[in-house]
Amino acid sequence: MAQPYIDTDECSGCGICVDTCPNGVLDIVGSTASVINEDACDECGECMEECPLGAIEVDED
Ligand code: SF4
Ligand code: SF4
Repeated sequence: MAQPYIDTDECSGCGICVDTCPNGVLDIVGSTASVINEDACDECGECMEECPLGAIEVDED
C-alpha cells in the first residue's frame, strides 16, 4: 500500500492537505504535515494536487 510522502523541508504546515484528504490520513504534527493513518489512504492524489508547494507526493498505482 502506497502512502503519501511529505517533504518536510518544503512543507509550510498550511494544513490544506489535511483539510483536503477525505480519509483523515494527514494531520499537522509540530510544524509540518504528517501521515497519521496510512492504512486509510486510497491514493486518490487530492492532497498532492492541492498542496501549493509541491511538498507531498503520492504513488498512484
Ligand atoms: S492520496 Fe487521498 S487519501 Fe491519501 S492522503 Fe492524499 S488525499 Fe488522503
Ligand atoms: S498542503 Fe503542502 S505545504 Fe500545506 S501542510 Fe500539506 S504538505 Fe505541507
